[in-house]
Amino acid sequence: MHFYGHIQEEDPEIYDALVGEDKREAEGLELIPSENYVSRAVKEAMASSLTNKYAEGYPGKRYYGGQEFTDKVEMLAIERAKKLFGAAYANVQPLGGANANIAMYFALLQPGDTVLGMDLSHGGHLTHGHPVTYLTKIFNFVRYKMKDIETGEIDYDDMRRVAKEVKPKIVLAGFSAYPRELDYAKFVDIAREVDAVSVMDIAHIAGLIAGKAAKNPFDFGFDVMTTTTHKTLRGPRGGMILTRESEELAKKMDKAIFPGFQGGPHMHQIAAKAISFREALHPSFAKYAKQIIANTHAMEKVFKEHGARMITGGSDNHLILLDVWKSFGISGADAETLLDRAGITLNKNAIADDTRKPMDPSGIRFGTPAMTTRGLREAESAEVAKIMVEVLTKRDDAVAAAHTKVRALALSHPIPESFI
Ligand SMILES: *Cc1c(COP(=O)(O)O)cnc(C)c1O
Repeated sequence: MHFYGHIQEEDPEIYDALVGEDKREAEGLELIPSENYVSRAVKEAMASSLTNKYAEGYPGKRYYGGQEFTDKVEMLAIERAKKLFGAAYANVQPLGGANANIAMYFALLQPGDTVLGMDLSHGGHLTHGHPVTYLTKIFNFVRYKMKDIETGEIDYDDMRRVAKEVKPKIVLAGFSAYPRELDYAKFVDIAREVDAVSVMDIAHIAGLIAGKAAKNPFDFGFDVMTTTTHKTLRGPRGGMILTRESEELAKKMDKAIFPGFQGGPHMHQIAAKAISFREALHPSFAKYAKQIIANTHAMEKVFKEHGARMITGGSDNHLILLDVWKSFGISGADAETLLDRAGITLNKNAIADDTRKPMDPSGIRFGTPAMTTRGLREAESAEVAKIMVEVLTKRDDAVAAAHTKVRALALSHPIPESFI
C-alpha cells in the first residue's frame, strides 16, 4: 500500500503520521470536492530525483546547466497540457492555483487596476479578491452575483452594467463553490465590450473540461485559463496557466511566473503533472469525468426526495452546496463534525447571502471526484447521500451505524493504484 521503508528506519515519527494518513484515506469517504487520489505513477514522480534540480527559466533558456532531462520533462508537460485543453500556450510552473492567479494578475494589471469577479459568498475563490488577501491592497476587485440563488443564474445584465461603469482590465470567471455551468459566451462578450482580458479559473472543474464532461471556455473565446492540477484533474498538487492563442499574453504570463513571482520550478512536480496529463488524455479519463457528474446527480436526487434545499436547486458538475440549516436545523460546523465521526469528510461552507457566521455557516459543500476515483457509481453514491440524510436527521443516534456502512463502502472500493 505504501512505500516508506527508508522513512520507517530513519524517522519513525513522520512514518507514523504517513501511515496514519494512508489509513485515514483508505477507510473513510472523501467528499471534499477539491480533493482526489493520484495514481502510483504520479506519486513516484513526486518522489524522484528531480526534486534535487534547479531549473530557473524555461526549456532551452535556463540559468543553470544540466538541463537535458528537466527540459524534456517540462516540454512533455507543456505539450500534453496544450492538447488536453486546446491551448496554444501553457505554463506548467505555478506551484499552486493561488500562485497561478497571482502571477496572472501581475501579468495583466498595474496597481490600482480593476478586476470584475464572482462574489465570494456566491462561489468565488479567496484569490478572486477576498479582503484577507494582500491582492486587495494592490488591485481593485468588483463583484457580480447570481440573479437567483434558487437557479444559480448569474445576473449578466448587472454584470455588463458594472463592467461599463468600472472598466475592468480583467473579467474573471470561475469558482470554488458554484454547482452550475456558466454562460461563457456572455462573459467573453462583456469582456470584449469593455476591452478587458477574459480569464476563467477552472481550478475545480479542470478534470471535467479535460474529460469533455463540461464545456471548454476556450471554445467560447476566453483568452486565458488558470487552474490547479490536483482537484478533478487528479494530478499532483500544483497550478498552471493556459493561453488560448495570444503569444503576447503567454509571454506576459511566463515573465510573471519567472522571474516575476516564483523561483526555481519544482521539476518533480512538473514530471508528476506530465504523467497526470497523459492519464487525462486516455479515454478512461473521459469515462471518469462523466461518472463524476452521474454520481453527483444520484446524490442530488436523494436530497431532492428528502425536500432538502440545495443552493441553485441542484448541480451540473461535481459539487453540491446543501443548506443544512434550513433543511435539517443543524449548522454547517455541526454537520461537518457529525459526518466526520461517521467517516464522511466534507466541509462547512457559507451559502449565498448567509445569515450565519463564516466559522459556523448554514451550509456544507461536498462532491464526488474522490469517491468516483474509488469506483463508486450511481447506486453507491445514492447510498452515501442516504447515509448523510440519516446522520443529519437523527444526529448522534445514527453515527455508529453510519460509520459501519461508510467503512464497508470504502473498504469494498479500495483506492486504485493506476488509472490506465
Ligand atoms: C482551489 C482553488 C484555487 C487555489 O488553489 P491552491 O492550489 O490551493 O492555491 C484557486 N482558484 C480556485 C477557483 C480554486 O478552487
